[in-house]
Amino acid sequence: MRHNTIAANKMEPQLKDLHPSDRPSPETQITQLWMLLDVSRVLNSTLDLDTLLRIIVEVATVVTESEAASILLLDQKTGELHFEAATGTKRSEVQSIVVPIEGSIAGWIVSNSKPLLVNNAQQDPRHYTQADDATEFETRSLMGVPLKLKEKTIGVVEVVNKIGPRLFTKHDVEILETLAAQAAVAIENARLYTDLQDQMQALQQAQARLVQSEKLAAVGELVAGVAHELNNPLTSIIGFVELLQLNDLNDSAQKDLDRVVVQAQRAAGIVRGLLDFARQHPPERTPVQIHNMLNKALDLLAYELRTHNIVYDTHFVSDMPLTMADPHQFQQVFINLINNARQAMSGAHSGGRLTITTQLGPSLFRSPDKKSNNQSAEASVIRVIIQDTGPGIPSDRLSRIFDPFFTTKQPGEGTGLGLSVCHGIVSEHGGHIWAESELEKGSVFFIEIPIIELEKSRWTELVDWTGLTDTDTDASISDDGAARLLVIDDEPDLLELLSRTLKLAGFEVDTTGDGHTALTRLNETNYDLIVCDVRMPGMSGLEIFEQAQQQRPDLAKSLIFMTGDTVSPATRRLLDETGAPYLAKPFKPDELIQKVRGLLKAR
Ligand code: ADP
Repeated sequence: MRHNTIAANKMEPQLKDLHPSDRPSPETQITQLWMLLDVSRVLNSTLDLDTLLRIIVEVATVVTESEAASILLLDQKTGELHFEAATGTKRSEVQSIVVPIEGSIAGWIVSNSKPLLVNNAQQDPRHYTQADDATEFETRSLMGVPLKLKEKTIGVVEVVNKIGPRLFTKHDVEILETLAAQAAVAIENARLYTDLQDQMQALQQAQARLVQSEKLAAVGELVAGVAHELNNPLTSIIGFVELLQLNDLNDSAQKDLDRVVVQAQRAAGIVRGLLDFARQHPPERTPVQIHNMLNKALDLLAYELRTHNIVYDTHFVSDMPLTMADPHQFQQVFINLINNARQAMSGAHSGGRLTITTQLGPSLFRSPDKKSNNQSAEASVIRVIIQDTGPGIPSDRLSRIFDPFFTTKQPGEGTGLGLSVCHGIVSEHGGHIWAESELEKGSVFFIEIPIIELEKSRWTELVDWTGLTDTDTDASISDDGAARLLVIDDEPDLLELLSRTLKLAGFEVDTTGDGHTALTRLNETNYDLIVCDVRMPGMSGLEIFEQAQQQRPDLAKSLIFMTGDTVSPATRRLLDETGAPYLAKPFKPDELIQKVRGLLKAR
């Protein structure tokens, strides 16, 4: 060992004292300089790191007349050296070798940031023999120089075995240092370029996601607009058919009309679903029946499920209580989960089975640390379990599916936002959402929300969202005869329908399609009740309300708005401010009559 150390130390004077005979002939020196000049041009012409490194090692062997050359780059995180390029046929074996800083010649060069010349490598204790073993190559002599960028050493260029009987000289070191100086700059440029490319790619992906979300928002707006426009004709279709059915028709005609009503109601359901889905709502808390939300989501996706060969079962608990929640948000959660299950099953097996179960009972949720379930163990919660027979989710992916923008779907098929939105909504409600999955068997999504007792809330919302109906049906006639109503709507067909429906129910009805006429009528006549459309050209329903309220401060108690836009936050806010109840289009004639009677009774 001692002998080897001395041998290594002996080499340093060699570097300082260059004997004239060490210099190659002037012709060889000129050739080498031209070569280096050429190399600098080549190195500046490519930004591909692999190509660069390959050129550098090839040139290094030629200019130093060596058998082989390699480049090792320092991994700043681990402090290890990695062979990034090497000449020779065993290149790939070399490239898998990791070289430690301690106990290697390359490590010595990096630590000391100095060149090193070892003319008897096998005797040098720093020689890292594993590279030789892997390549079945015998290193006799070795010369290495640091790759330096400013004051930082980023790696090493090594050449091995001087060809012929001569040894490496200081001149060889000078030549290799010149090459290494050029190489370091080129390597850094290539790295910066690669970093830039990575950043560009990340930016492009982020932009694509943003565009996708924007597109979704635009599609949502479009869908909402179209759905809204469909509400008036649907109300007319349903209403006129029901009026027709009051006539003495034969059975076959009655049945056909029943079919028209069923189909129109189905269309109305889809329109409502689209409106719910497309609109953004501020969070609200109203009494909701979770089963209604699930059924609405299933109705909306029934076509998709059927056409993708997916059957579904529901196992609903019989005594599901109402709870305070945001119905729009929950519908969105269920639509997302059902849609994901549909995509997973149709993508993997062209079909499958969706099972939706609801339960009541103590929470099953365990926080990820498995220590606690974060909730009082006894408190009963509402649990929804959505199970599919899709391909399942690998365990390493399961922990990431709720991350925003995590998606395994093709662009256009998924944005990776669905589950993160679901997670946000459920958490906002004080609940939990999680998934369990088994590969090839399928996935199960669990949602738990607390049961929150009902606040005394507006009955209109109960009617809309829980399916409860008002039981007051006897108030059509006021004490001194039939109640007198004014109906305001700009759609002549709808006006005609409303008028006929209300007259049939025993009311006296005046109609107008214009706001100014409505105000005049309201000044002249003390109507018992006003039914007024919200969105009308010229004067809107809300403007009529504001002006008429100056004469009748308690107008909110005797006016019902009709709107196709109950789910738009702006409309909802304005309607809430008036304090008047509203009917969402499309509605059935008996819903209108019930609401009118209910309000007259309440007064
Ligand atoms: P997206 O559907 O837009 O990809 P999500 O947040 O809804 O975004 O879902 C994220 C990822 O979770 C999906 O890309 C998919 O890999 C996985 N995933 C969600 N639901 C299921 C499911 N039922 N079966 C298998 N994988 C699913």
